[in-house]
Amino acid sequence: MSDNFDNPYQTPKSAVDVKLSNNASNIWRKKSAVVVTRETIWPKRCIKCNEPTENSLNRTLAYVNPWIYLSILISVLITVILALIFQKKFKMELPLCDRHAAYRKRVILINWLLFLGMIGCFWLTFANIYEFGALIGLAILLVMLIFGFSNRLAYVGRYKDPYIHVRGAKKAFLDSLDEFEQ
Ligand SMILES: [Zn+2]
Repeated sequence: MSDNFDNPYQTPKSAVDVKLSNNASNIWRKKSAVVVTRETIWPKRCIKCNEPTENSLNRTLAYVNPWIYLSILISVLITVILALIFQKKFKMELPLCDRHAAYRKRVILINWLLFLGMIGCFWLTFANIYEFGALIGLAILLVMLIFGFSNRLAYVGRYKDPYIHVRGAKKAFLDSLDEFEQ
């Protein structure tokens, strides 16, 4: 094992560290997705900027087969029920540097402010103070959805047992991974 290291006199890294190196196993990239399995331990590098980090966010990502969304043609309620029954959940420790953890907190804060602004605007209309309040409220809702979706930390775009395609990682991190060949 020691021939993995340039300097034979340095303190040997643990087996875990070797697994977390650039050549980590069980983690690949396919276009803009990171491909992992349930067993994958993510390397200790921020998924947004690829800087080394000791921090990670414990997330449970849900995945719903896109075919289930077709049931929306029948009823939204059926879609919700099917999605809840058939969703797959994946627990992941997503590495995130301090800077991007702070960014994420700002995103959450901004979304809360937008939400409160929206409620306030709707209230203005329903309290007969300002007739266009509800319209502005709807516009804020749209901004909120777009802002929220475009700033998602990570989500599962595809699942084909055992491979989970996670989206949300940025180019620097993706470029550090081996191509997924399967
Ligand atoms: Zn980062």
